[in-house]
Amino acid sequence: MLAGDKHPGVLMSRKAFIAISLAVSLTLAPGVGRADSGHGGGKHNFRRGAAGAGDPYFPLDGNGGYDVRHYLLDVTYDPATDVLTGVATIDARATQNLSAFNLDFEGLEIRSIKVDGRSADWSRDGGELTVVPRRGLKKGHKFTTVVRYDGIPVSIGDPQLGQSGFLHTDDGALVVGQPDVAATWFPANDHPTDKASYTFKITAPSKLQVVANGKLEKQRERLGWTTWTWDAKEPMASYLAMMAIGEFDVTAYREDGIKFLDAIDPDVFARPVTGDGFALSQAADLTYKRLGRTITVPAGGAQMSFWINRDTEDSWDFAFVEAHTVGLDDWTTLQDLNGNNGQDTGFSCPFGDWQQFHPFLAHYQTPIETPEGPACTPTGASGAWWAATGTSVGYEQWLVDLSAFAGSDVEVSISYASDEVVQWPGVFVDDVVVSTGEGSTSFEGDGDALDGWSVLGAPEGSEPNANDWIVGAPEDGTGSRGDIAAASLGRAPEILDFLADNFGPYPFSTSGGVVDDLVGLGFALENQTRPVYSKDFFSDSFSGDNVVVHELAHQWYGDDVAVEAWQHIWLNEGFATYAEWLWSEHDGLGTAQDNFDFWYSIFDETHPFWTVVIGDPGPDSIFDFAVYKRGGMTLHQLRLLVGDYDFFTILRQWASSQAGGNGTTDEFISLAEQVSGQELDDFFQIWLFTPERPVVAAAVAARTASVTTDVRHAPAGAGTVLSRSDGNLKVI
Ligand SMILES: [Zn+2]
Repeated sequence: MLAGDKHPGVLMSRKAFIAISLAVSLTLAPGVGRADSGHGGGKHNFRRGAAGAGDPYFPLDGNGGYDVRHYLLDVTYDPATDVLTGVATIDARATQNLSAFNLDFEGLEIRSIKVDGRSADWSRDGGELTVVPRRGLKKGHKFTTVVRYDGIPVSIGDPQLGQSGFLHTDDGALVVGQPDVAATWFPANDHPTDKASYTFKITAPSKLQVVANGKLEKQRERLGWTTWTWDAKEPMASYLAMMAIGEFDVTAYREDGIKFLDAIDPDVFARPVTGDGFALSQAADLTYKRLGRTITVPAGGAQMSFWINRDTEDSWDFAFVEAHTVGLDDWTTLQDLNGNNGQDTGFSCPFGDWQQFHPFLAHYQTPIETPEGPACTPTGASGAWWAATGTSVGYEQWLVDLSAFAGSDVEVSISYASDEVVQWPGVFVDDVVVSTGEGSTSFEGDGDALDGWSVLGAPEGSEPNANDWIVGAPEDGTGSRGDIAAASLGRAPEILDFLADNFGPYPFSTSGGVVDDLVGLGFALENQTRPVYSKDFFSDSFSGDNVVVHELAHQWYGDDVAVEAWQHIWLNEGFATYAEWLWSEHDGLGTAQDNFDFWYSIFDETHPFWTVVIGDPGPDSIFDFAVYKRGGMTLHQLRLLVGDYDFFTILRQWASSQAGGNGTTDEFISLAEQVSGQELDDFFQIWLFTPERPVVAAAVAARTASVTTDVRHAPAGAGTVLSRSDGNLKVI
């Protein structure tokens, strides 16, 4: 998982907020109160299976006494009512003589349960569903449980992780979460130790797409509803089962024997409102872009409207409309009469550099000192500040009044100003309508796409723009979030190739990814064969590629080799983080050593980052930032200690020896010792189990001394990841 964080960070050089811990709060359901009772014959000592799988962090996750082989999930979801109707057919084998057994199941109403074709008794207590078959199930017996249920699935709310679980989206649903999401939509043995194969038969209105793990086997339409059958044949932990229902642009292809399927919500693409062309600001550091023209305003006044899709770094970069009388210096910005802009000057102006970057903005903004620190007023030398920042989530229509310029020629400009780091995709504009007709355009490629508008360049005092407004088709610019997502997901074959070189063969037969437009989804998850990504990661190609590398690395470490218990989470997150560093080096960005140096040095020895015991972080800290970064650092130090040959042998053997199963930290340490021939207990004790900043070799310390905490001086890669947290960001 890669998660976002909305908190202001700890280290505050410019934008270098660091994500703090993300933790999943635990709600422990009370234990099932039924007494064990022998069913089916005393001499076999039939007992009820345990209510939990024995995970110290989440004692009621999973269950004991049986092993699920296969789930057939036949579910129908109606977005109009939010109701899910399901029939779960669970094939399992008893691992003890069972008088009763538990399933994990949250919320939804149960209509009936049958075991081996016969009605079974059942009772519920919180998230524990106890099933009592007519007859006891002997150890080794293969049995089938069919549960019929329905209801409105509930999302899991967590103050730090945000929303997860079964999420109702604007056009369907998305199921994604960790560590125990499965029970919110089907009865499950909800712990990674009980892997199973899955068949999903998901029925939804035919106008929607349905995506799940594995391979699409068939689609069958009947009376306006389509049933999609997806087969995930490789054993999978329950939390990795995903489902996405909604409108998606689907790209399917085959490469290197792997079937890829990517599904991206069309709403994350900026596309022309009408026709084939629109105006694209594009993205680059330190720009001030103007798309302008002169309009003659009659004595009775005039108005101008246009559609704008904004995706600018929240509180740092801005879109606005400027105007002045031709020949006069009466510049001002214009209020959108539809209420989409405001007078907030955000973080950029008070921060200071903004005035040096774009001195022209002094026409509209004035820095002041307040008891709380630097601030800005939304008025300047000649006009007022009306602007919008952040993302509009699709198009909005702006309407500005030009009547203040009645009887004159006014030069208007649709403008976008950016700061020196972190660029989101920018601004997309279409269908300008001026009440006089002069300047109305849809920016079509009809020989005069600009229709009198022109690219004015940055005003005096700003640096020349590295790129600027263009008029054309979506693919002509630097890309909207959907284009960036498509490009990053499109690198999956190349990324899998690279990861396979380091970790061994890709463990599955299918791959791909899903990006929904859901607002507020704060993470990406390594769903087996088909990770789910928040659209927020695709603000630029580095961030997009990085998160894809992270989730694809989990296919080896996290999915094919799952944790035996959640305390071993660093075996997932440290490894996926280290994969990012390896990729960074491979992709010509910062080396793995640069990344180590950066993260090691950015937290001094007094920082709480070092107090997290990543080998056993506690249930509230399984997604702590330290689990990721100190986990990656641990692997890097192991590599320096045992050498590249042994290190990559260890990684490959870890994947191959535990393939399809589970692993523990102790097992990993044993493997590392066996491969390297070194005694590594002390090393791992220091890096995984000591709440202090480890001392690194003098040579490394010397290197780190030159690394500053300023994101602008970070190694390429590390800094970019870091800077995500700005505004309301997304960091790791
Ligand atoms: Zn992860």
